[in-house]
Amino acid sequence: MAYKTVNPYTNELVKEFPNATDTQIEEALSTAHSLYRAWKKEKVADRAQKLHDVAQTLRDNSEELAKILVIEMGKLIGEARGEVELCAMIADYFADNSAEMLSPIPLKTTAGNARIEKESVGVLLMVEPWNFPYYQIMRVYAPNYMVGNPMILKHSSNTPWAGAIFQEMIEKAGAPKGSLINLFLTHDQVDKVIADDRIQGVALTGSERGGSSVAQTAGKYLKKSSMELGGNDAFIVLEDANIDEVISVASRARTYNAGQVCTSSKRFIVADKLYDEFVERLAESYKHFVPGDPLDEKTTLAPLSSAKAKQTLQKQLDDALAAGAKLYFGNTPIDLPGQFFQPSIITDVTPDNPAYYEEMFGPIAQVYRASSEQEAINIANDSHYGLGGIVFAGDSKHGEEVAQQIDTGMVFVNTFLYTLPEIPFGGIKRSGYGREMSSLGLNAFVNDKLIVSV
Ligand code: NAP
Repeated sequence: MAYKTVNPYTNELVKEFPNATDTQIEEALSTAHSLYRAWKKEKVADRAQKLHDVAQTLRDNSEELAKILVIEMGKLIGEARGEVELCAMIADYFADNSAEMLSPIPLKTTAGNARIEKESVGVLLMVEPWNFPYYQIMRVYAPNYMVGNPMILKHSSNTPWAGAIFQEMIEKAGAPKGSLINLFLTHDQVDKVIADDRIQGVALTGSERGGSSVAQTAGKYLKKSSMELGGNDAFIVLEDANIDEVISVASRARTYNAGQVCTSSKRFIVADKLYDEFVERLAESYKHFVPGDPLDEKTTLAPLSSAKAKQTLQKQLDDALAAGAKLYFGNTPIDLPGQFFQPSIITDVTPDNPAYYEEMFGPIAQVYRASSEQEAINIANDSHYGLGGIVFAGDSKHGEEVAQQIDTGMVFVNTFLYTLPEIPFGGIKRSGYGREMSSLGLNAFVNDKLIVSV
């Protein structure tokens, strides 16, 4: 069985989940499709209360839900509680705002009385990763629930429990049967589900490799897709930035969720004038992380999500050092049985080093020295990815001008990069296409239907 819950703190196999059968897949497609038909006759606003109920159910069961994340992928308990609350906020937001955002758009035309109506398209497949196991689902579920698109969920093979409990919570809240059906699909079954005529779109969050494969299948069957993929985000520090603020954000920007965030700052590009102080103080901040049981509130360094994640990261670091990068701090084993990785800093990463273009999914900061603002921008843009980024500047307005020159989907100035339901999330280049959250996410799988009457 591919779907397993293995606690990365204790390495204990907690649960196993059997792959979906053909019968389960057929039942799921048929139930979801029937709901799509039934929802067609309902007003968007009529769905709002149930989505508020989902939010409330998540809040009522927050402790149980948070502990599952801790056990299943090692998240710190405080961060896990935060993720549950974020999901509830997303549900509330789309419940409150979707009817207005989906209202018809009248058109000025000589064609007659014309408008665009925003209609549902049908059943969607969502394919999700393990790093924010509930949040990733909710980003797709809440807006599409309001649009009227039922969803089939294929969760990551190492967070199956999160997928199963999410469906349980939705049912407990009283949402209609079929609004979200979790299936433990193999990759081949994902392809078969995408090919099914009842499926009208695929939303995937995950790696470039997974995204490319699923997007290829979606393309083959002419199904719309949105791809939220990896990143190699830059954190630019201009020479007039407030270094105290920079350090407090920079430390967290690389280590939150044990550094396993698509929008973690992975490349710090620092003005020559501040470079030495920056690396020294970033390293100092890394000395204070306390590894331990992620259920213990005093722990500040969580294990990585799995043994495989740790092996992959260690290999990337070893390869980077072998190719000439310098270790400034870290890379010391942590004497605990879990999958811990000490926050580390490397410098002198040159374009011929594999680490230069790779996404490192864990707490390793690459620090680059920039002799001018233009050089900082050039380094930031020398990436196959284009997800997010951060700019720290003495003057926010100037920071925004620099932000405009960064080739990514999101740039935050003088602050941590965060997510909220009302602001869009997504990238360009190999970070994927499409946006989740906000009105853009709500409109991702909508039939903009023209109606003209005379
Ligand atoms: P992953 O290996 O691509 O897996 C993501 C999901 O895709 C899993 O459910 C996985 O299933 C499935 N999958 C992978 N290959 C597939 C295939 N050929 N056919 C069908 N399904 C397939 O990514 P991950 O390691 O879980 O997640 C980490 C990556 O996600 C990082 O690159 C990170 O940057 C990115 N990410 C992006 C965002 C964003 O919003 N842009 C947010 C979070 C994470 P299995 O587990 O069964 O293989």
